[in-house]
Amino acid sequence: MLNVQQIDRDYSYDGNDLGAVIVGEDKDRTVFKTWSPLATGVYLNLYLDGTGDNRIETLPMERTDRGVWYVELFRSCDGEFYTYTYEFDHGRVRNETIDIYAKACGVNGDRGAVVDLDTTDPCGWDDVPRPVCKNACDAVVYECHVRDFSADPSSGVATGYRGKFKGFCQSRTRCGGEETCLDHLKELGITHVHLLPVEDYATVDESRSHKQQYNWGYDPKNYNCLEGSYSTDPEDPKCRIREFKELVMTLHKNGIGVIMDVVYNHTYFTEESSFEKAFPGYYHRMRSDGSFSNGSGCGNETASDHLMMRKFIIDSLKFWAEEYKVDGFRFDLMALHDIETVNLIRDELDKFDPYLLMYGEGWTGGESPLSSDRLAYKWNSYAFGRVGLFNDNIRDAIKGGTFNQYDMGFVSGNKNTVSILRRGIAGSVKHPQLNDAPEACWAYEPTQAINYCEAHDNNTLWDKLKISAKNYSEQEQIKMDRLAAAIVLLSQGMPFIQLGQDFLRSKPRILAEGEEPNDINIYCHDSYNAPDFTNSIKWHRKKEYKEVFEHYKALIRLRKSSRLFRLSTKEEVAAHLQFMDSGDWNFIVYKLEDDKECYVVALNPFTECRWFNLPWGKFYRRLDENGRINEDICEGSVCCEPISAVVFKRI
Ligand code: CA
Repeated sequence: MLNVQQIDRDYSYDGNDLGAVIVGEDKDRTVFKTWSPLATGVYLNLYLDGTGDNRIETLPMERTDRGVWYVELFRSCDGEFYTYTYEFDHGRVRNETIDIYAKACGVNGDRGAVVDLDTTDPCGWDDVPRPVCKNACDAVVYECHVRDFSADPSSGVATGYRGKFKGFCQSRTRCGGEETCLDHLKELGITHVHLLPVEDYATVDESRSHKQQYNWGYDPKNYNCLEGSYSTDPEDPKCRIREFKELVMTLHKNGIGVIMDVVYNHTYFTEESSFEKAFPGYYHRMRSDGSFSNGSGCGNETASDHLMMRKFIIDSLKFWAEEYKVDGFRFDLMALHDIETVNLIRDELDKFDPYLLMYGEGWTGGESPLSSDRLAYKWNSYAFGRVGLFNDNIRDAIKGGTFNQYDMGFVSGNKNTVSILRRGIAGSVKHPQLNDAPEACWAYEPTQAINYCEAHDNNTLWDKLKISAKNYSEQEQIKMDRLAAAIVLLSQGMPFIQLGQDFLRSKPRILAEGEEPNDINIYCHDSYNAPDFTNSIKWHRKKEYKEVFEHYKALIRLRKSSRLFRLSTKEEVAAHLQFMDSGDWNFIVYKLEDDKECYVVALNPFTECRWFNLPWGKFYRRLDENGRINEDICEGSVCCEPISAVVFKRI
């Protein structure tokens, strides 16, 4: 076992020059640096190509201060490929591997590529500003997988661009007369696209892009490189870089921010990972018996508490933010990162741009050897209050528990979740009217609560309703979906919806041969490697469920129209949000009021109308049960239609 504390004390390095960098006024030198303090020798291998037998030369590197190895070449290596060979124990162990700091790579990410990044900027790159989001609650986040977005022919995207970064750059695409892809994002009104991992991952063979392959991308290979299968030419290291920049630039031009899903919590290859080869035993957490701990459930977990792993994560995030101008990060299994690292990331990103969004999963995939009070679990949320967390409380309260597919929630008539739901509506912060459900009062500020009821994991909301509320008519199931959307989009916090949720996304499953269909197995609840049949967006559904789409769009517009739906502090929530007496605890009515405006929101989960009294004054229906504005003036006793949300606004 390594004595990591001693290594960190004696060797941790704080230079910002690890990797391959082209330097000099004329860009005529290339410097390679890598950190491996216990290596007895390190060599640089240069290649002509990303794969194959084409080595140009191998050069010994010189050991310098603090375990950094160095070699300088008096030429620009732009376009050349490279690996390092780390020697331990005087040559008894020799590991050839890609540089963990590689910013570009060949096909399938086995060799790094030296790239002059200035040559990868698309035309106009410096002229497009990044959209500003000063309050995280102003964001409406749309979770998209690059391939799902445009892989299906119904996307209307040109054949060669389907399922690629380029699929985000095409406008005027239609299906059945309805806007798709980029135009759809604008029409819906979301503010940020959150992309499932676009960093290089392992399990899709980039050299066979014509073959149908699929993965969500939570199998990380190179953290500072892009996934090649999303580019039109995975063999050309600059192509994926240029095309991803085009994606970011196109969305920015349309006022939409880009959030990256980052997976620093584990490596896909464990012993065979580039980290382990560069410095065995250092970058992962180990059990006392020397085996890899498995807090991710994927075979290992990285050690953010070791200084050079922490530095790697921070350097990597700064690279994505600065070089690619992305607007935020979503941390997979964030609870595997120690709290100190999470707060340092926030501080470092603040120095660059304090409005970058940052949120993650407040849970792990297994047990970590690091004590749970040091990890970024949701129950430690107050210790990293400026980083958001997925609100599984509101998720399950809305639609029923995720892991019991028959379980119902508020929208499908379960009356046991309403206390938790009220907490979620009030931003999951302390509220003077709420005493129940302390477990759902976990946010330091409402900006920390990422409210959702559907994401890539588990059944889609629509499939969940089809399974759990099967005794209801389809019309009623649609009402449940719309009520769920109203809760997500009208609650305090940051709303998060999945691509296609706004037109009842479904993930149909292909049955195995001889398998009898039942309520559950016809839907896929874990589609991480399922084919396009299951995962890709079938855009014709937008026309089919146009009323549902219009409802989501109207809710987003309503949310954007008043700051009362987007309060950023717990003091503001306490001052402006008041639950009203509706005569029935399960019929939720609340008021949002400041000195200018007053809204009343009613959420009726019952299959019959519910009446309640408006506060003083005259109101109109800012959003009726069909998601439209109804200007008829009303006051006093009003009704909320069965299984619906209605929003009144004082005149
Ligand atoms: Ca890959």
